[in-house]
Amino acid sequence: MDRRIFHGNIQPNDIAHALMAEFNRGNLHAQVVGGQDKMAVQIATRMGSMSGGQTALTINIQKMEDGILVEAGQQAWFGVAASLGQTAISALRNPFSLLSRLDDLAQDIENIQLNENVWKVIDRTMATLGASHALSERLSRITCAFCGTANPVGEGSCIACGAPLGDAQPTTCPKCGFVVSTKESTCPNCQQALP
Ligand SMILES: [Zn+2]
Ligand SMILES: [Zn+2]
Repeated sequence: MDRRIFHGNIQPNDIAHALMAEFNRGNLHAQVVGGQDKMAVQIATRMGSMSGGQTALTINIQKMEDGILVEAGQQAWFGVAASLGQTAISALRNPFSLLSRLDDLAQDIENIQLNENVWKVIDRTMATLGASHALSERLSRITCAFCGTANPVGEGSCIACGAPLGDAQPTTCPKCGFVVSTKESTCPNCQQALP
């Protein structure tokens, strides 16, 4: 399970739209289920697809305080390994058989890269919309407990009254966007070492 958080003024639908545009074509079929704040995009090989094995992947998208959380489920495989194996075996017996199985081979490789391609589309979409793994402007402010002034993250003391803001200041994992405290040395979500 791969989970990433994007901060910014974005909606689950932004990602759902981008995934539909990219993956609901060719040998793949994609559909959106769920409502506004919580939706899932299911991508699967079309039934009766002429080449390669079958695969399916579900991406869950959930609205959060200042952005969205995206989770890719475990990709399910139906016969892709078998299909690749069959290609290899028939190539051993008769190298010319590869020619007739090139479509299968290309499709299987495309299927294997599906998870990676999904994240590429998500990252690209988020970048276009100005969202990132860093905290949004709204959340990246700490309200002073004494005078109520909003201070930018990283400020040691309140810009208005000078009271210490302490180490309550949050930051985010650069790899997955999970909100972490400055005391943590590894990300609880993806185990990335934090600076
Ligand atoms: Zn203050
Ligand atoms: Zn992380």
